[in-house]
Amino acid sequence: MPPSRTVEVGGTIGILGGGQLGRMLALAAAPLGYRCHIYTPERDSVAAEVAAEVTVAPFTDPLALGRFAEACDAITFEWENVPTAPLQFLADRIAPGLRALETAQDRVKEKRFVENLGGRPAPYAPVDSADDLARAIERIGTPGVLKTARDGYDGKGQWRIASVRDAQAVRLPQAACVYEGWVQFAAEFSVILVRSATGEVRFWDSTENRHDGGILSLTRWPPSPVVAAQVDEARGLSLRIADALGYVGVMTAEFFATDNGPVFNEMAPRVHNSGHWTIEGAATSQFENHIRAVAGLPLGDTSTIVTRAEMDNLIGDVSAAHSVLSDPAAHLHLYGKSEAREGRKMGHVTRTWIK
Ligand code: AMP
Repeated sequence: MPPSRTVEVGGTIGILGGGQLGRMLALAAAPLGYRCHIYTPERDSVAAEVAAEVTVAPFTDPLALGRFAEACDAITFEWENVPTAPLQFLADRIAPGLRALETAQDRVKEKRFVENLGGRPAPYAPVDSADDLARAIERIGTPGVLKTARDGYDGKGQWRIASVRDAQAVRLPQAACVYEGWVQFAAEFSVILVRSATGEVRFWDSTENRHDGGILSLTRWPPSPVVAAQVDEARGLSLRIADALGYVGVMTAEFFATDNGPVFNEMAPRVHNSGHWTIEGAATSQFENHIRAVAGLPLGDTSTIVTRAEMDNLIGDVSAAHSVLSDPAAHLHLYGKSEAREGRKMGHVTRTWIK
């Protein structure tokens, strides 16, 4: 299991994926004395902009991957849809391990894995055909949501199904799917933890999260009492997931707080949007602790150091974003993306209060 040794000052951390999570990881790695090397298929990577090195190549290019691996002292990823087959030859060098990545990439596999550890996802059924969908709806009922089993993010690849008629009208994608019953939740929240190679685990405080059209829009701490009452149980499951995977790095699990306790939604084998508040709100941010874990350094304190924190995602045009800076509580993080496409995360603002 990686990492077998500590990465020394001046060492290079390789990051697969070139988006904003990689950018914030690279920014957190710099004060620890590390250089980051971004591996991305994109020419205009926002992570590469703040990193020492970049390789622009497809994730399926074994020669480029081999050269990248030789140049790095530790390797991690910031994007969970990185194809795992081409990475097998590097399996013992990547943290978190490929099993975590493979589990999180397939919603059906992930739900089964979590059920085996005593977790409770929404009622679900794998769907590969219209007949499967009809049977799933007969058993689970409506409303529900049909999701592609793989490659979905930020609400993409999801279709809300309110009635049997909706199900008959839906055009099934040419991909494995899963049908989930709609969960009546009071709130959504996430558990974010960091686990070291020696099995030490630390949790950040759990935030309450609001989504808009499947995309996270707001994260708030402290959460409402209904969430606070369910955090312990959700942490217990998250810890079992991390231990079972021999996880190294930051891991996120998202939950629905319901009248019957926490219902597992999904996990992310990486730093998470609902943890951005930790940059200003916690003693050590999720980004710094992820780098510490994959580099074999001691983990930092995850305590909350503010009395209140709120993170809003900036989606769409951010040309006037500097106006938030007149608010003394606001911390602005722009990701440097040149094009504001619909639903694209362009930055975030965290507001923190000490009193
Ligand atoms: P996901 O990509 O699966 O996390 O879905 C994005 C968001 O859609 C979630 O955070 C919820 O707000 C909503 N959602 C997804 N699945 C369900 C479900 N089975 N029941 C209720 N809300 C859901």
